[in-house]
Amino acid sequence: MEKILIIGCKRAMDDVCIGCSRCLVGFNRREGVFSMYKDVEAELTGLLNCGDCPGATIVTRMAQVNLWNKPQSEKITKVHVAPCILDHCPYKDTIFAKIKAKAGVEVVEGTHPYMPKDIFA
Ligand code: SF4
Repeated sequence: MEKILIIGCKRAMDDVCIGCSRCLVGFNRREGVFSMYKDVEAELTGLLNCGDCPGATIVTRMAQVNLWNKPQSEKITKVHVAPCILDHCPYKDTIFAKIKAKAGVEVVEGTHPYMPKDIFA
């Protein structure tokens, strides 16, 4: 069973992408990058924000997710970095490298496929 943690941009999660619904829908439907779980048992275990600019606390926050889930014997097996970080964050390379260096599990680029193309078309 895969246990998935999504990591996104705090500012986007708080102010723009309210409710992180596209990530959740994408996961439930196994669409976008989540199509890799089409024939795999997988659960969404957490949605974590980067901790705000410049993402300096991301590793500590990942450790906290692990800590809070220990009593339930839940262990993250895959981390997905969301498009709000990959496509828009000026610190994305540093943040992604930190996540990859410390996660200890596979870190996957991307989540849902529902990015708008032509806003006013
Ligand atoms: S560091 Fe990047 S991902 Fe985090 S809040 Fe700032 S812009 Fe968003």
